[in-house]
Amino acid sequence: MSKIYAMSGGATGIGASVKEKLRARGDQVIVVDIKGGDITADLSNDEGRTAAIEGVIRMAPDGLDGFIACAGLPPVAKPLSLISQVNFFGAVATLEGLLELVARKKGAMVSVCSNSAPMGGLDEECIALMLAGDEAAACARVDTLDDGHNAYAGSKNALSKWTRRKAPEFMRKGVRINGIAPGMTSTPLTDRVFDDKDFGPLMRDFSETIPYGSMASPEMIADALIFLLDPEARFVSGAILFVDGGQDALLRPDEF
Ligand code: NAD
Repeated sequence: MSKIYAMSGGATGIGASVKEKLRARGDQVIVVDIKGGDITADLSNDEGRTAAIEGVIRMAPDGLDGFIACAGLPPVAKPLSLISQVNFFGAVATLEGLLELVARKKGAMVSVCSNSAPMGGLDEECIALMLAGDEAAACARVDTLDDGHNAYAGSKNALSKWTRRKAPEFMRKGVRINGIAPGMTSTPLTDRVFDDKDFGPLMRDFSETIPYGSMASPEMIADALIFLLDPEARFVSGAILFVDGGQDALLRPDEF
């Protein structure tokens, strides 16, 4: 039977691949995006988050089989607080705002995290402020860091922790929530990073260390993400699934 999903960030990259794969198998997908979606909303602010949630509720009043928080900005986005606003606060607001709609169908949620989340040297205070839900203080702090990697990986670290902290509560409502942690993937986001004069050379070097031998295509991430939505993953809850060609295992072999 065909299913109905909603997602943020489905216009390009990983999200577009998820959308296309789900639609190709006959499912309905409602896309929220700042451009090129079914619902246009800027998830960096409360107005856009409310428009996103209300728009999805209007289009799927009987419930959702799943919601994917995929919208995200790269470490080169400016100001750095925009990264926290979209990658963490926008994701969390939509996951929480659509929980009841997904609970009606005992569906699944996926937060798109990153394999950069466990990397060291992150600002713990900033992560703590995000997890405390203090958007103003988290944004003020991240803007003082002047470090795009810290802002990006910190936002994904907080999102991964938030996902695991919420998993038991969501599961009791019948909703599985999991995170997916992609490694470097060829998308417009990565193109922006490669074009940056500071990040570009570093990221090119980093991409050469991937044990798989290349970066992922968006389809490689989408296939794993769709597994997390599907009934085959019905006992998977609170997992952070690394889909990164072995890079996290290379960097942190003894941590899991
Ligand atoms: P992408 O740029 O192709 O996709 C990001 C999407 O988010 C776009 O459709 C964009 O329009 C949307 N978006 C950006 N700002 C928004 C806003 N304010 N409001 C609403 N929508 C907004 O990049 P991608 O690589 O496909 O990224 C998808 C997700 O995967 C992101 O969360 C990203 O952080 C994560 N990720 C990507 C990689 C990678 O190497 N590409 C690695 C790890 C994690």
